[in-house]
Amino acid sequence: MSFFTSGNTPVTQVVATRNDLESNEEKKYCWVCFASEDDDAHASWVQPCNCRGTTKWVHQVCLQRWVDEKQKGNMSGKVSCPQCNSEYIIVFPDMGPLIVLLDAVDNVVYKVCPFVAAGIVVGSIYWTAVTYGAVTVMQVVGNKEAMNMMDQVDPLVLLVGLPAIPIVLILGKMVRWEDTVLTFIRRHSNKVPLLKYLMPSYVLLGAGIDGVRESNSDVPPLADTVSATRVLCGALLFPTVATICGKIFFDNIPSNIQRTLLGGITFIALKGCLKIYHMQQQFIRQSKRRILDYTPPVVQPDPTPAPTPTPVNTPTQDLTDSSQTA
Ligand SMILES: [Zn+2]
Ligand SMILES: [Zn+2]
Repeated sequence: MSFFTSGNTPVTQVVATRNDLESNEEKKYCWVCFASEDDDAHASWVQPCNCRGTTKWVHQVCLQRWVDEKQKGNMSGKVSCPQCNSEYIIVFPDMGPLIVLLDAVDNVVYKVCPFVAAGIVVGSIYWTAVTYGAVTVMQVVGNKEAMNMMDQVDPLVLLVGLPAIPIVLILGKMVRWEDTVLTFIRRHSNKVPLLKYLMPSYVLLGAGIDGVRESNSDVPPLADTVSATRVLCGALLFPTVATICGKIFFDNIPSNIQRTLLGGITFIALKGCLKIYHMQQQFIRQSKRRILDYTPPVVQPDPTPAPTPTPVNTPTQDLTDSSQTA
């Protein structure tokens, strides 16, 4: 009171400025919502990390929301301060042993489920392969003979052997023997007179025809991508196709196995010949390809002209226009 009555202004000013500074330093600002202590006197504040200055304080509620956003539903996820990287210390109230037990069970189930799911998928694939193998054996050997055969064989052999059938079929389908044969034919077609006689188109390259690329090496190999679905379908349908081919071509053979085997071999040979022929024709088409001289495209006159025809520019106008813009 004495300050005000005496009118000693310098002292009051110093005290006031110091008070202001202290209050500014101590004044809490929330770095999430930017509100200060004055905006909500009842809000709960927390100083969760090592930050100083404007990011020192934050509302408990605002930080909870920020943590929720960072955890994305994972309640036990760790969250750190985006500025100083100190990890927030998050504590939960003690909810009793039952909740602890339920939490533990929940955690175990959460961790085990991916493995169980993977196991179910692998098991399903395995049993599908076993079934496929059994069906294939019955198809190739005949139902009665297959049943007799499977009764005599050790079950363990069946459990390993039957699923191996589709695997062997797929691996066999991946062998690209047609490529090897075609390369061999291309390389030796000039030397073997019989091949030259049988397949004249295979020795056409190198004949020196105008515009035709001279040697095989000039033509890039065709992009030949092996499609996984194609391999799978071809491999798994092969026993059926072999059975059908056997019935068509070798109906007089009484043995199921022999008939199917011969049918399969016939199918592979026929399909191989067609494939080699197709590949060679594609190769020739590629090598005989021509690129034509440029011809200006023929512009069709517009049957319905625009309602306001644009004035035709004379060469002088063009010149003045270009000089203006330049
Ligand atoms: Zn806030
Ligand atoms: Zn911090």
